[in-house]
Amino acid sequence: MNTVVQLRNRDLHVQLAQEDRLEDAGRLAPDDRMTCHVHNRWVHQCVSSAAHVNQVTRHRWCRDCKTALTVAVDELTLTVHMSCPSCGDGRSAATRRLERACEASLAYTKGRPALLAG
Ligand SMILES: [Zn+2]
Ligand SMILES: [Zn+2]
Repeated sequence: MNTVVQLRNRDLHVQLAQEDRLEDAGRLAPDDRMTCHVHNRWVHQCVSSAAHVNQVTRHRWCRDCKTALTVAVDELTLTVHMSCPSCGDGRSAATRRLERACEASLAYTKGRPALLAG
């Protein structure tokens, strides 16, 4: 158990450093990162933080309700869904991209999603 956690943590730091470098070089969009350089975590682990809400770009933001979307992470199906607590929708292209990045990091930390599906 301990070993697994340590491996994943080491994995995280390696991935973080790699994505930092790629992003600095302009070869990776911030939206497509699987790691978060603000919280030093996998993005699906900290995406529910207020720091991941952006009213301008509409990441996790419902414009109609002026409300942050809530995040539901399903570790079994490896899906991440964001929705507005007021209207139940409120999604945008930026939010969908954030969901995809979260699902990528979730799948990555869980190993091969194909094996889990069975
Ligand atoms: Zn974060
Ligand atoms: Zn709404």
